[in-house]
Amino acid sequence: MTFAFDPPPQASVAIRGSDQRFPVRRIFCVGRNYAAHAREMGKDPDREPPFFFTKPADAVVDCPCTLSYPSLTQDLHHEIELVIAIGKGGSNIAQEDVTDHIWGAGVGIDLTRRDLQAEAKKMGRPWDWAKAFDQSAPMSAITPIAQVPSLSQARIWLAVNGEVRQDADIADLIWDVNEHIATLSQAMELAPGDLVMTGTPAGVGAVHAGDVMTGGVDGLGEIEVTINPRP
Ligand code: MN
Repeated sequence: MTFAFDPPPQASVAIRGSDQRFPVRRIFCVGRNYAAHAREMGKDPDREPPFFFTKPADAVVDCPCTLSYPSLTQDLHHEIELVIAIGKGGSNIAQEDVTDHIWGAGVGIDLTRRDLQAEAKKMGRPWDWAKAFDQSAPMSAITPIAQVPSLSQARIWLAVNGEVRQDADIADLIWDVNEHIATLSQAMELAPGDLVMTGTPAGVGAVHAGDVMTGGVDGLGEIEVTINPRP
């Protein structure tokens, strides 16, 4: 078989302590998975099951990195998130079996064009333009699961120019890793290389050209992203 033109390079992300890379198949994202963030977005955290949206695989960017302020928006927001890397696929995965499917974990920023998201919500339109743009998923290296101290309790935080804006614990997830990945696997057959961005805690806000975001999940990884002016 030959292709009509060269296929795109395989999207991938670094692996902590290794020269190998984690090949990315899809990026699933959980919406409103911390109660305080759901409330800051004007929603009742007790009223809805987990829901998901996606980003293209090639939205991943290895960090530390420098990104250009994206097009179309005047309100680019940071959302620091625990990232789960799937190593073994499956459908209808039981909650107690989810651990067997996890290859590793890291930390990423679900960059969001908040003004476009607000417009999409108002108009009943999809979120893609708000969430799935180029380079919208800067990420740390993935830490292999054997080296991950905990997926149920760890500080998650993000600072802009050294000022802490988001500071919570992954223990505060409304739908924990086992619960939301089991739910996700009912909708899609998960496959090796899938990444799941697990939702952001409260304190989201705008970043501007010249800002430097730093963040992390303790024990899993740290991330640094510098925002350059729009070209
Ligand atoms: Mn998010």
